[in-house]
Amino acid sequence: MSEMFSNRILNTKKSFIREILKVTQNKEVISFAGGLPNPISFPIEALKTSMNRVVDENGSNAFQYATTEGYLPLREQIATRYKKRFGLEVSPNDILITSGSQQALDLIGKALINKDDHILIEKPGYLGTIQALSLYEPQFHGINLLEDGLDIQSLEAALKAYAPKLLYTVPNFQNPTGLTYSKEKREAICELLKTTSTYLIEDDPYGELRFSGEDLPYIGSRGLEHSILLGSFSKIVTPGMRIGWICTKDSKLMDKLIIAKQASDLHTNFFSQCVISDYLAHNDLDEHIRKIKSLYKEQSSAMVNAIKTYFPGNIQITIPEGGMFLWATLPEGTSSLELFDLASKENVAFVPGEPFYTEELTSRTFRLNYTNSDSETIEEGIKRLAKVIKNR
Ligand code: PMP
Repeated sequence: MSEMFSNRILNTKKSFIREILKVTQNKEVISFAGGLPNPISFPIEALKTSMNRVVDENGSNAFQYATTEGYLPLREQIATRYKKRFGLEVSPNDILITSGSQQALDLIGKALINKDDHILIEKPGYLGTIQALSLYEPQFHGINLLEDGLDIQSLEAALKAYAPKLLYTVPNFQNPTGLTYSKEKREAICELLKTTSTYLIEDDPYGELRFSGEDLPYIGSRGLEHSILLGSFSKIVTPGMRIGWICTKDSKLMDKLIIAKQASDLHTNFFSQCVISDYLAHNDLDEHIRKIKSLYKEQSSAMVNAIKTYFPGNIQITIPEGGMFLWATLPEGTSSLELFDLASKENVAFVPGEPFYTEELTSRTFRLNYTNSDSETIEEGIKRLAKVIKNR
């Protein structure tokens, strides 16, 4: 039967996290596995008002087919926000609205990747990107992610050895590690890429969620031509409405991405676009984001403190300055998959490191999400996990 299926789907794995989510639906389980924003951060009342206003003001137009590029007022609002936050000169024509930034990854794959093209990705890297781009059958090369960003020597060597089509990065509060690239690393990566024709993807769903330290400029903002920024309202407004975007000043690439988008789904859900745009016009997004950041700051501190109190001292963790995750490393010779099985029996879940690597390996790392449980639940979950680690 499997000969009926395409090689590209046969060679692409199910999302490990989506599978884990099935297990963690059980109410008894404390789950640090998913990457879910805290639902108390969804501005439900304001969205309800926006939905009604969109219908009242636009009538049937809100339910009609729309342009592939996306709702112009929303693209203008996104461009204005880039200008306000980073002084970036972005035109609405540089922005394509997508069904979440996950679709942006798929469209980039469609527009840029031929089978066996070389592409570079952080090691460990976002598993949704590994999955989305796997469908285009590239050769992945992982570049080690260090505390302050990519390992520059390995990056330089890989750029020379493979002339890759693209380099995929999450420079702010990376998924899965929670790490953030330093200013120096950003500059070094930009300078290196300027000597190549490799596209840089900066996927930035978490950048606005910095709860300590200072915002840093985008890598590509230092005049890098082949530069693609991905953004999303998933973590700052709501993920279920599926509104993200691609921002690039490379107009030739933008043309191709629009063709890919047309072929995929004609355009992003127009009603969702109108509602988000109305929400932005009538509410103070910065004020809303401040509330999310203070919530996540408290939750991340609860997790870091609980780990420091209950975990054995030989487990290393990253200390995030924003975003939704931290990353733990077990001592040599320990498997995080084994730990996952034991932890499931104690009703606590996390994501073992394996799916974040493009090669087969046994990992001793794992990802913990702190945004979807309150501080007491976080402490209880970490206690359970500590018990499993000590007794294994
Ligand atoms: N990129 C990264 C790094 C992510 O962590 C996620 C969400 N887990 C996405 C993209 C997809 O987000 P969206 O909801 O915008 O599709």
